[in-house]
Amino acid sequence: MLTKNKLHLKAEVDRRSGFCFGVVKAIEKAEALLDEGKRVYSVGQIVHNEEEVERLSKKGLIAIGHEDIRDLKDENILFRAHGEPPDTYEEVRKHNNVLMDATCPIVLKLQRDVHQAWLYGKHVYIFGKAGHPEVRGLVGQTNGEARVFRTIEALREMELPQALALFSQTTMNPGDFHDVVDHLNDRGVEVEVHDSICRQVSGREEELKAFSRHHDRVVFVAGRHSSNGKMLYEVCRTHNPYAHFISRSEELDHSWFSPGEHIGVCGATSTPHWLLEEVRQKIEAL
Ligand code: SF4
Repeated sequence: MLTKNKLHLKAEVDRRSGFCFGVVKAIEKAEALLDEGKRVYSVGQIVHNEEEVERLSKKGLIAIGHEDIRDLKDENILFRAHGEPPDTYEEVRKHNNVLMDATCPIVLKLQRDVHQAWLYGKHVYIFGKAGHPEVRGLVGQTNGEARVFRTIEALREMELPQALALFSQTTMNPGDFHDVVDHLNDRGVEVEVHDSICRQVSGREEELKAFSRHHDRVVFVAGRHSSNGKMLYEVCRTHNPYAHFISRSEELDHSWFSPGEHIGVCGATSTPHWLLEEVRQKIEAL
């Protein structure tokens, strides 16, 4: 029988990777109630990380879709860190449900700013991913009128007003956001720039670049649906061609590694610390 040789790998976890405070707060809120034995429904997955979702669902957290809210009465309903549009608040309150709003304070402020710009009659443009829960929450602040675009190419196709208020989904790339501003300036549009990119995310880029370069290989751990994860993984890959994306420690592949390599383990703002540590241990055991 063939046996794999031990690889003698050294692995280091990036201490700044892992849950941002918005997600920590949302999980803490949910867990406090679950620990009291209460049933808690979260609108959408509380965090874009399958492992953490599984851990919380074992404690009794139930993820539901927006269409399920109307069937709930006298229940505890949690809004996750991404936030929700105003009509979801109305729907929850219609049936005497208890709302636990775990919207991240940064997203709440952004929602208020978007709403205010719209109230002042400004044309609101959002650099972000149409359909993303946070973006839906933002568009909801403008009665559905905000225009959303994800790339400069998409923006190029849009007819623009003479003046607009520009916002960003909190997890977009800051460099791309600046390119958007330059593009609008080049087209002669008067832009009121609201740099609403979360510093918990954008600050991570520079550190991740250095972390990626510093290791022979990088293993990036995040949920498949995390936009923050995709963005940060691209940063790693640009600065270290030997970067691998996994969601679970079981996805580690012996064949990726060469003996004696020094591996960096990092993740998104939605990756739990316990999972990063589990990956580190499994790598060192390969
Ligand atoms: S990434 Fe930033 S804005 Fe988003 S939930 Fe975390 S702290 Fe809040």
